[in-house]
Amino acid sequence: MAELALEHVGKVYRNGYEAIHDFSLEIKEGEFLILVGPSGCGKSTLLRMIAGLEDISSGELWVDGEIENYKEPRERNLAMVFQNYALYPNMSVYDNIAFSLSVRKVDKKEIKKKVYDTAKMLGIEHLLDRRPGELSGGQKQRVAIGNAIIRNPRALLMDEPLSNLDAKLRTQMRVELAALQHAVGTTTIYVTHDQTEAMTLGTRIVVMRDGKMQQVDTPANLYAKP
Ligand code: ADP
Ligand code: ADP
Repeated sequence: MAELALEHVGKVYRNGYEAIHDFSLEIKEGEFLILVGPSGCGKSTLLRMIAGLEDISSGELWVDGEIENYKEPRERNLAMVFQNYALYPNMSVYDNIAFSLSVRKVDKKEIKKKVYDTAKMLGIEHLLDRRPGELSGGQKQRVAIGNAIIRNPRALLMDEPLSNLDAKLRTQMRVELAALQHAVGTTTIYVTHDQTEAMTLGTRIVVMRDGKMQQVDTPANLYAKP
């Protein structure tokens, strides 16, 4: 678990487009922060910069009191979950979940136990021999979440993880994510368009517009009826 802080963070893409402008925010340990805002307002850009998948043009990213701007994604140990799952199609579910541990040379026995425990927690322990192509959308997303949480990341960054699922499954996964959050308590930043997800999962909600923070508040205050 970690505490994150963005200080005057900005992003200018190579083509000169300013996607994020002077963005500052503190994210407390164990917080489940929701990012909302219209398409193109910079949500993914912000998550990718935090994960280390995109350079930060200006300002600073702090994790647990250290500046992380120039660290490689692996050194940051912040796990990202994407809308389109981003699984390895030719690897089994087992290998997909184990991947981040295998590349870190963790002991094989330990990996096996962790993969099994993680799969069990996500209800996919019977699917470990399958390949992603043989799974439903919800099962794929569970594998992607398994891959993300198995290495105890300092924080989870989720970019519309449920938006490719049908309504019924989305509701079910939302409930499961809430339970997972309750059990594991990892600091999370979560992008969504879904107001129910924002309200039921979030401890705080950041509203973005045109690369800037427009508002930040608790779900209760933000969605309170006047
Ligand atoms: P370069 O190709 O010089 O690295 P960028 O860093 O600007 O250029 O682009 C990186 C990737 O993002 C490219 O694959 C590009 O197609 C894509 N891209 C460029 N402009 C946009 C945009 N406005 N919205 C989404 N993706 C874009
Ligand atoms: P959101 O996740 O809120 O939909 P993004 O972070 O994907 O927004 O994009 C923010 C803005 O930056 C958009 O206007 C998008 O077109 C632009 N953008 C995204 N990637 C690139 C890129 N590689 N090069 C140039 N512009 C980009």
